[in-house]
Amino acid sequence: MKKTYQGSCHCGAVRFEADLDLAQGTFRCNCSICFKTRTWLAGIPASDFRLLSGEQSLGDYQFGKKRIHHRFCRNCGVRPFSQSGDQRAVRVNCLDGVDPQELISAPVKYFDMLHDNVKTPPAETRHL
Ligand SMILES: [Zn+2]
Repeated sequence: MKKTYQGSCHCGAVRFEADLDLAQGTFRCNCSICFKTRTWLAGIPASDFRLLSGEQSLGDYQFGKKRIHHRFCRNCGVRPFSQSGDQRAVRVNCLDGVDPQELISAPVKYFDMLHDNVKTPPAETRHL
């Protein structure tokens, strides 16, 4: 069942609200940026995401094909979400007050984007 979560960066400049159901799944990925930033995301439509504050604090990092905007707080460096078109990807570890049990129980799908492979998960995922 979808719940409304409050989320934020570390310093609190960036705050958002997201309607999501962690039981519907989360994802991790082995691509260059996901690996370096230990990404753990839940994908939701933009209509289920609301930026409450911090637009002026948000940086925008893009690389490669520049399809995704990797947003980050210019003050504390935390990356609360990414955006691409009408999709948002929220860092589940930026949800405030989330019950650890919900995170433990959330299914995780692994993407092998290091090899541009959307069909099969990477052979090894323990280090991601
Ligand atoms: Zn911050």
